[in-house]
Amino acid sequence: MKRTILLAACAALLTSGPTLAHGPHEHGAAHLNVAVDGSTVTIDLESPLANALPFEHSPSTPAQRKAVQNMAATLRKAENIFILPAAAQCRLKEVTLESAALPAELLTAPHTQQPAKSEHNDHIAHGADHVAGKPEHADHADHAPDATEAAHADLDASFVFECANADALKSMDVNLFAAWPALHELRVQLVSLTGQHAAELTAEAHTLKW
Ligand SMILES: [Zn+2]
Repeated sequence: MKRTILLAACAALLTSGPTLAHGPHEHGAAHLNVAVDGSTVTIDLESPLANALPFEHSPSTPAQRKAVQNMAATLRKAENIFILPAAAQCRLKEVTLESAALPAELLTAPHTQQPAKSEHNDHIAHGADHVAGKPEHADHADHAPDATEAAHADLDASFVFECANADALKSMDVNLFAAWPALHELRVQLVSLTGQHAAELTAEAHTLKW
């Protein structure tokens, strides 16, 4: 019975598109959608925050903020987490990390945080420009969810690799279990030229082949 429900859920995921997919929130499990399209490998990871952090709320202490930044830094080095064959000569092109519970600035790479400032002079008076130009300094606490409410939250991450030798793209080793000890099961949907594959990866068996 449970198997039937899961299959139905997977079908719904595929028709609604991977970026909008939302699997059930189950601590210890996460969902991975992999698309191998020619020389491009696109990976979407959706996981309860609890697999990556000891909490599922906005960080309230310096230690928690640091934990979020460390978690993000690990994922941004995605070439160490999603190991593609060396012969495929893949390069990590893009990493996007999002969570409704976490401040975006903690998930962003430090060197990409600064807003682009191309104009040194502006016709607008400096005072007005100054006020209009800093909405990011508004108090986030006003909009934060009630911290006393025990809510669950997910992390949505996406990764894009470009590979020089697409012919060698036949497998991928997923190292996420080493980075996230709380993760026990990764439910994978993979789409490639050879068709659609489903797999369940664990800390003991974490290589995808297609
Ligand atoms: Zn949760």
